[in-house]
Amino acid sequence: MSRIFEVTDKVRTHDPRADIDMINRAYVFAANAHANQKRSSGEPYMGHPVAVANILASLRLDDKSIVTGLLHDTVEDTAVTLEDIERRFGSEVAYLVDGVTKIGQIRFVSSEHKQAENFRKMILATAKDLRVLLVKLADRLHNMRTLGFLPDRKRQLIARETMELYAPLAHRLGIHWLTQELEDLSFSHLEPEAYFELSTKLADHLDSLNRTRERLEAIMQEAVNRMGCRARVQGRMKHMYSLFLKMQRKQVDFDDIYDLVAFRVIVDDTPACYQTLGIIHSMYRPVPGRFKDYIALPKPNGYQSLHTSIIGPDNFRLEVQIRTEAMHHYAEDGVAAHWLYKSDGLDARDEKNFQWLKQLTELLQESDQPGEFLENVRLDLFVKEVYVFSRDGDLFALPRGALPLDFAYAVHTDIGHHCLGVRINGQPADFTTRLRNGDQIEVITTPEQTPSRHWEQHVRTPRARQAIRQWFRREERDASVRVGDEIMLEVFGSESKVSKEALRALHCADIDELRTRLGRGEIPLDQLMAASKRNAPRRLHLTGTEQGLIRPAKCCLPLPGDKVLGRFEHGKGILVHHQECAVAAAEEGEAWMGVDWRPEEGKLYRTSLEIKTLNRRGMLASVSGAIAELGASIDDLRIHQLAGDMTTLNVLIEVKDRVHMAKLMRGLRAVADVVRVRRNIQLRTSENISQRIGRSLRTLIGSRKDDDEKNREKE
Ligand code: MN
Repeated sequence: MSRIFEVTDKVRTHDPRADIDMINRAYVFAANAHANQKRSSGEPYMGHPVAVANILASLRLDDKSIVTGLLHDTVEDTAVTLEDIERRFGSEVAYLVDGVTKIGQIRFVSSEHKQAENFRKMILATAKDLRVLLVKLADRLHNMRTLGFLPDRKRQLIARETMELYAPLAHRLGIHWLTQELEDLSFSHLEPEAYFELSTKLADHLDSLNRTRERLEAIMQEAVNRMGCRARVQGRMKHMYSLFLKMQRKQVDFDDIYDLVAFRVIVDDTPACYQTLGIIHSMYRPVPGRFKDYIALPKPNGYQSLHTSIIGPDNFRLEVQIRTEAMHHYAEDGVAAHWLYKSDGLDARDEKNFQWLKQLTELLQESDQPGEFLENVRLDLFVKEVYVFSRDGDLFALPRGALPLDFAYAVHTDIGHHCLGVRINGQPADFTTRLRNGDQIEVITTPEQTPSRHWEQHVRTPRARQAIRQWFRREERDASVRVGDEIMLEVFGSESKVSKEALRALHCADIDELRTRLGRGEIPLDQLMAASKRNAPRRLHLTGTEQGLIRPAKCCLPLPGDKVLGRFEHGKGILVHHQECAVAAAEEGEAWMGVDWRPEEGKLYRTSLEIKTLNRRGMLASVSGAIAELGASIDDLRIHQLAGDMTTLNVLIEVKDRVHMAKLMRGLRAVADVVRVRRNIQLRTSENISQRIGRSLRTLIGSRKDDDEKNREKE
């Protein structure tokens, strides 16, 4: 069992300026907090935090990391609060302890490979500070070393989590021994039989393996030296889990694995690599077919080395890798890169992040002043992502800033389309709530719910935005088919009367295409009329109820019953202008159509009136009184004092239709001192109409000027 003085001794050795007093205080504080607690082994609980601190000291971490190691379980398992820790040990330690506690609360729930990668990222995102992650890894290592005392099911869970999350993280950090120990420990719990078999066999061979390794190291070193090259020869036993993987991958038995010990010879330059190979092959017989020249033909990830297998002393097969120092460095990074290639969904940015981490850890292990070095090193790695869970515990990675609808659409497009609301961690939340790491989100759906236009403001992911736009495009297509159908029926009378010649003349393959293109306003109306061979111009009979198909233009505010010009606006239905509207007249184009716009029962339409009156007291009251009396309501009213004693009132009112409006205008004209009442539509000359709108329109709607004049008269 580790003792606190072992820890402080280690810390003092590598960092003379470390705050040993703080470490001792943390020890006493944690020992008090855990005073009556025991581990599953029956030992006092305090053995665990001290062991964790000891591992951290071996990693040569700074004093605050060591203190965090001692305190890491206090907030989770005792009455101690973060505030207590902050008061005694400062905000930095409190921040680190909080980080370790939060990682501890992440529950690994999926066995899918892809999900494991998301969990790893989530841990990194939660850690925020490199030290948090290192403390967590040390904690996990000690727990794995003492896992045997837990019930079987729990052991399996923790071992699997270690294998899938923590060992890969240690690997990415470049802490090789930690990776291997975590893997071997997990392996022993996950595959106890295979582990036992393998360890028994290894134990049988261990002495001879070690002797072989030492002897070969010496022989090779000497041979290479004799040649006049500088070289480093490293022999290493492969760790159990990698042997196990190899046996599985190659479907071979232990006895057929010839690279239980692997050698690496690192030399100065490329020619020396081939020279060294020559020396080794002259000493030992190469295994045919095992030589690989990855220097001449690098692996796709850039890895370079010479690989060979030889039959060494005592007929022992060995794998040897020969490379330069530069290749060696590249190989180290390349391993990470290779690993990254295999895990889906990682981009180059992630890879760079891990390289940075790796370099950082290397620096850390070589640095004399780790304390200074580690100060405020943040793991700003995956700040661009947020990790959330579905109700079923599936993990989703979304961009940071993602909102509930992004999640709904990430689950499934239909879940998004019919999303009525969400509950986050059991609480109802609205669409503007930013998702946070670890949130559990339940989407409430109903078939009646469909996307609305403002949803686009409540999504951050391209996927959700595209899905919403797609929905509306489909809606528009439906709307244009509906409009097109109406136009077609109006012009041709019935579907069966659309002749093949007509289709050909309009360049449509079939009726459906005709419908769609008519609805989109793609077919000029004069062409349509010509193709229909009809002389009698007709108007379209559309009511406002057509799914909100008709929208009055804001410039002229036409009313149902007015002579209106309609134009299909992509995705918005038909926009109608008053026939006299100057704005409409200014718009070029052939796609205007005459529309017989009928009022919708019970609906009020907004329009604008200009009332000119004599300027006298009580005038406004009489006018608004008259408007109310006639069943219309005032939305807005502006007064313009004119020169002399005249006043102009601009009134926005709501009426049922044109007939209602006419009645209202008559009523207003009857009010004393009202001089003139008229619709607020900019008039234009009849020349303009013919010039700008074009022949086709006149053909369709009929330029029945006389009627129009009469109508205006009535107003
Ligand atoms: Mn712990």
